[in-house]
Amino acid sequence: MKILSVNCGSSSLKFQLFELPEEKVLISGVFERIGIDNSFYTIKINDEKIKKEIELKNHKQAFEILTKELIENHTIENLEEIKGIGHRIVQGGSYFDKSVIVNDEVIEKIEELSSLAPLHNPAAITGIKASQEVMPNAIQTAVFDTAFHQTMKEDVYLYALPYEWASKYKVRRYGAHGTSHKYLTLKMAEILKNANTKLITCHIGNGASISAIKNSKCVDTSMGLTPNAGLIMGSRCGDIDATIVTYIMEKENFTAEEMDNILNKKSGLLGISGISSDSRDIEEGIKNGNERCILANKMYVRRIIDYIAKYYVELEGADAIIFTAGVGENSISLRKEVMDGLKILGVECDDEKNNIRGKIALITKETSKIPCYVIPTNEELMIALDTYNLVK
Ligand code: AMP
Repeated sequence: MKILSVNCGSSSLKFQLFELPEEKVLISGVFERIGIDNSFYTIKINDEKIKKEIELKNHKQAFEILTKELIENHTIENLEEIKGIGHRIVQGGSYFDKSVIVNDEVIEKIEELSSLAPLHNPAAITGIKASQEVMPNAIQTAVFDTAFHQTMKEDVYLYALPYEWASKYKVRRYGAHGTSHKYLTLKMAEILKNANTKLITCHIGNGASISAIKNSKCVDTSMGLTPNAGLIMGSRCGDIDATIVTYIMEKENFTAEEMDNILNKKSGLLGISGISSDSRDIEEGIKNGNERCILANKMYVRRIIDYIAKYYVELEGADAIIFTAGVGENSISLRKEVMDGLKILGVECDDEKNNIRGKIALITKETSKIPCYVIPTNEELMIALDTYNLVK
């Protein structure tokens, strides 16, 4: 069965077409600068990459071009072959604890939650509506970044703020990267041949979050109401003393928007190093003896270790720690520093096994009390699998 996995941003549309259950990627690509000048798209098919510059007025036009390409490339003979289209939705609030088939009520709820994800939820609705128009026979599904974390208990997801804010303003922790944490959970169940385990999953990319998972259910996660909580990230600050916000706003005369921009786009590795939000640049800076890069990395690693230790206690142990996403899959030094920082828990990094990038691997010694793994995440496949199961 052919299933399309879609991730719409305000001016972009990323897609992958899968053959399921074989989990084969037939074609993938991205439309960029939709609705802006100089728009273009790139498509990858049979290891060949095609780039075309073309005016893209809106998401509907992008879907129309996509379907035309699918037919011209003989990926499909007709549109009816695509049985399901899964859309990535950033914020599902407390409404959605699993992926669902899209109907009017689902769209209304996603719309209602737009104030919690103003850049993402409206774009996703645009994408759903556009694909409904272009491919009316396919079943559309919504796959939420927050759904996997809905199993967190009230004492874990509430903030110690006036109690009524949770219902009045929906202020609570929802987490993010749920599709990735769920994918790692399923993969680890396959590897350990056991779904009743205690896992600490570390999604360390430009955005970063760690989850504590017990018996395949999320117990706790480091992101909060928004993705700017928990770990130090590329350009996000993660956990800080909340009063810093009002203090600096007063001192610098910042508006809420300006302050939000600094906390999300000018903090984290970028804020401390003053150089870059990309961990490759930070690693380069460290090699060149840049003090601020050394400091930024120290803080970054420290926070990851703190969260793993916290979740180790919360779970009363761990059967595995998993690293994924851009940094987690590729940074050998970051993983080593984190594992070395967990020596007290009996974690023993195996330098040789850890010397890998972007593939499934056990990276600790046999004697390590907690095995650590690298598992490349695949959110697109997870979206497609959820859609496949709903369509079936
Ligand atoms: P993601 O958000 O998962 O796409 O991760 C993107 C981030 O991964 C980049 O901003 C880099 O910080 C990091 N990254 C990618 N490749 C490498 C690498 N080879 N070594 C270290 N960090 C990497």
